[in-house]
Amino acid sequence: MSTHPDERTSSVFDTSPETVLERLAALREGDAPTHGGHVLSYVYDSGLAQIDELAASAARIVQPLNALDPTTFPSVAVLEGEVVGFARRALHGGEDVVGSVTSGGTESCLLAVATARAAWRARGGTGRARIVAPSTVHAAFHKAAHYLDLDLDLVPVDAEGRAIGLVDRLGPDVALVVVSAPSYPFATLDDVETVAAAALAAGVDVHVDACIGGFALAFWPGEQPLWDFRVPGVTSLSADLHKYGYAPKGVSVLLQRGRDRQRLQYFATSRWPGYPVVNATLLGSKPAGPLAAAWAIIAALGVPGFERLTAQTQRATAALQSTVEHIDGLRLVGDPVGPLFAVCADEGVPAESRVDPHLWADEVRARGFLLQLQPGLVQSDGPRLPHTTHLTITPVTEAVLSDIQAALVAAADAVRGVPAVSGADVLASVGELGAASVETGPSAESDLAAATLTQVGLLGDAAAVPDRLAPVLALVEELPAPVVERLLVELIARVVEPR
Ligand SMILES: *Cc1c(COP(=O)(O)O)cnc(C)c1O
Repeated sequence: MSTHPDERTSSVFDTSPETVLERLAALREGDAPTHGGHVLSYVYDSGLAQIDELAASAARIVQPLNALDPTTFPSVAVLEGEVVGFARRALHGGEDVVGSVTSGGTESCLLAVATARAAWRARGGTGRARIVAPSTVHAAFHKAAHYLDLDLDLVPVDAEGRAIGLVDRLGPDVALVVVSAPSYPFATLDDVETVAAAALAAGVDVHVDACIGGFALAFWPGEQPLWDFRVPGVTSLSADLHKYGYAPKGVSVLLQRGRDRQRLQYFATSRWPGYPVVNATLLGSKPAGPLAAAWAIIAALGVPGFERLTAQTQRATAALQSTVEHIDGLRLVGDPVGPLFAVCADEGVPAESRVDPHLWADEVRARGFLLQLQPGLVQSDGPRLPHTTHLTITPVTEAVLSDIQAALVAAADAVRGVPAVSGADVLASVGELGAASVETGPSAESDLAAATLTQVGLLGDAAAVPDRLAPVLALVEELPAPVVERLLVELIARVVEPR
C-alpha cells in the first residue's frame, strides 16, 4: 500500500470527473449484483427500472438540502408528512398515530426503545429498564439495549420459531415488549394480539418490528392475523421503505400511537450558544435524498402499484417454498409469513438423504444465486435452534424463477448425505495461532486477531471473499460469541483501514 507523505490528496482525486466515475464503475464491478434477482437478501428489486430512475431523479433534486431544519426547507416537511401519512393509512393507524422518517430500520428500532423507556420513566419507572422479546427479534434491539443501556430479556422460541411464554415475563421493570411482523431469521409472525392484550393490561408498551415485512404484509394477498395498529396495545411500529418500499438505502418509518407519547422521541435544547436544536431522530444534519426517493416511489406506485408488486412477490415466494418442500432432505422452518423464509435440514429423513443448508447455500452460490447463511443458536433456556439458510424474495424474483428453482434442486442433489462442516475440525485446522487468539478472547489485541483472520484465509494479501461460507459459519457456531464478535470486528475494521 503506498502513502503520499508529501501530498494532502492522493492522485486519485486530481483527475477528471470522467476518470473518477470510471474508477467508481470499475469498483462497482466487484460488488454483488443489486439487480436481477441473484442476491436473495439485502437488496429489494422492484424489477422496474423506471422506479429506480425516478428515485434517483427525486434524490438529486433535494441533494443540496439539509433535512435538519424543515422550517428553512419546508419541502422536507411536506415530503415527510406525506410519507408518514401513507404509512399510517397502510398500517391502519388512527388519527392518534403520528411518526417520523428515519435513516433505516436500526434507527427506527433505537428510537422506539428510547421513547418507550422515556414513557416508562414518565409512568414512574426507576432504575434499569428491561426489554422483553423473542430470541428471533432483530439484532437492532441488541444494539439498542447496548447503546441505551437496558437489559434485553430474550424469550426462547420453539423449533418452529414461536415464542414460549412471552407474556409471563412482564413486570414493573419492563419498558417495552417487542414482537416482529415477521421476524427476520425465520419469518415468524409473532402473536401480536395475545402479547399486546397482556401488555395493555399490564400497562407496558409494545413495539411491532415490521421493518422488513411491513410494506409487504400491508399489501399481501389473503388474510393474516392482525399485527398492525388495529391491535389495541400496539404503541409503536417500524417499517422500512428501503426494503419493500423499494427505495434506495437510508429510509424507514417509525409510527407511534399518541402525540404526547411520541413527543418523548424528540430531543430539543436551547442551552448552548448555537442554533436551537430540535431533532426527532438521531442525526443532526441529514440528507433529504432517501426521503424524496421514497416519496416519489410511493406517489408513482400508489396502492395499486404496491399491490401488484406484492402479488408478484407472493407468487414467487410460494413457488420457491414449494420447490424447497419437494427437495428431499430440506424443509422450511416453522410457518413463514410474508416474502422471506428459512430452510433447515430435514431431521425426519435418514442421514444419507439429509441436506445441510449451509453446504446447500454454497452450492447454490456456485450456480449464481446468493442465499444467506444463518448460524445455529443455543438459547438460554430453550431448544437449540439449527443453522439455516435464509431467502428474501422480491418482485424481480419471478423473472428468474425457473433458474433459481433449478439451482436449488441441483445444489441439493450435489450435497445430499454430506454431513455439515464440523466447527471443531475447522478450529483444529486453524492451529496454534488461532488457539492463542481464542484464549486471549474478547480482549485480543488487534494484530493478534488480524493474524488469526489471516491464518483462516479471511484477511491478508491472499484474502478474497471465500467461495465456501459453510466453514466460516461453522467457526462462528463453534467459538464463544465474544471471541467471534471480536474477530468479526477486526475483519470489518481491517477492510476499511485507511488506504
Ligand atoms: C432490516 C431489519 C431491521 C433493521 O433495519 P436496517 O434497515 O437494516 O437498519 C430491523 N428489524 C427487522 C425485522 C429487519 O428485517
